Amino acid sequence: MNDASNCYDPDKNPSLLSVEQTLENIKNGISSLSNTIVLPIRDALDHVLAEEVISTINVPPHRNSAMDGYAIKYSDIKNDPDATLNVVGKSFAGEPYTGNVKAGECVRIMTGAMMPADCDSVIMQEQTEKQDNSITVSGSHRPEENVRFPGEDIKQGDVILQPGKKISPADLGLLSSIGIAEITVYCIPKVAFFSTGDELKSLDEELGPGDIYDSNRYTLHGMLKQMNVEIIDLGVIADKKELIKQTLIDAAEKADMVLTSGGASVGEADYISDILNEIGAVNFWKIAMKPGKPLAFGHINETPFFGLPGNPVSVMATCYLFVQPAIQQLKGINKDDQLKLTAKLENNLKKAPGRTDFQRGIFTQQQNGKLSVSTTGMQGSHILTSMSLANCFIVLPRDSGNISEGELVEILPFNDIL
Ligand code: AMP
Ligand code: MG
Repeated sequence: MNDASNCYDPDKNPSLLSVEQTLENIKNGISSLSNTIVLPIRDALDHVLAEEVISTINVPPHRNSAMDGYAIKYSDIKNDPDATLNVVGKSFAGEPYTGNVKAGECVRIMTGAMMPADCDSVIMQEQTEKQDNSITVSGSHRPEENVRFPGEDIKQGDVILQPGKKISPADLGLLSSIGIAEITVYCIPKVAFFSTGDELKSLDEELGPGDIYDSNRYTLHGMLKQMNVEIIDLGVIADKKELIKQTLIDAAEKADMVLTSGGASVGEADYISDILNEIGAVNFWKIAMKPGKPLAFGHINETPFFGLPGNPVSVMATCYLFVQPAIQQLKGINKDDQLKLTAKLENNLKKAPGRTDFQRGIFTQQQNGKLSVSTTGMQGSHILTSMSLANCFIVLPRDSGNISEGELVEILPFNDIL
């Protein structure tokens, strides 16, 4: 990220960086972690697969019945739809019938049980009438009815999972269905973060004049936890240049990504930019978005670094929009595009052209199935209640001005990290 074209220099380039360009720059600045680990499949849930998984077997492995009923030879009922057939044996799941089945005979069969070699169809129980040792068939039928074939779900040699797939509960089932007990996944990234600001107090401290409690460390903790990363919380670091510098160097050494909040703008006590110019290759962007205009991104040695803004809503918005995809990339996850929907606005919204707004909204589904969205109220970047109330961002385009009630707007529903 040393490329000067990615640097925002307010003197040379008065235009703000677009959200899309910011994402592109971040994407180009992050590579996946290469360290992998072999885990038993249950422990691999939510990890990212680092290998291709190929099936060595067919699933199902044998022809089996899709119903409880009777395995028959279709030729017996083709011209005699209500034929009576002698029951010569039973096939249960795990306990197949291994004998012969001759013309005029059938086998009692249960769901999942292996088909007798001589039979080609299964008549469901409800379409038969049982006498002592025989059944009479009713209804209309077709050959191979209610039979599942080998490899219908997975064929031997099929690639069932690709690298970059986040392992889901269904994948645990899929892997176990082909007899795989362990898989190679990427190691969980370690993400270190700290807050900067002399006004910030931890929860066990008294607030003095001008102090506030540090909330960013808690929102970041929550969001990172939901992203399934290993969290290294370095606490609040006072606005002292040497201290911040040493903490950043240490953090970059032990973590795979470093985040800070606060101190990234141009206030007097904002040392981060000076320090980063000394120890890293970091760009300071002014992004055409609201909230979250200032953002630093780059590397300290090889470790990706984000300097998030200080304001609590800005931290959450930039973490959601930029850190989240960066962590996905670090984890090796194949791109997971965020769902965007359209909803009818229930309030007038104030908006000045120039930046893309990510206003906080509450969307609901109407009786007619359509979505509507209302604002959470005050939209300042310090109004953290707006994030707590919201279930989506209302995304208002960069060039738009005020938007009126009744207009259609784009919404970005929160995923489970918020
Ligand atoms: P800064 O970017 O450091 O100038 O901070 C911008 C605003 O965010 C100021 O009002 C700070 O007090 C506030 N702020 C910075 N860090 C935090 C934090 N960790 N928790 C809550 N508010 C913060
Ligand atoms: Mg500060």
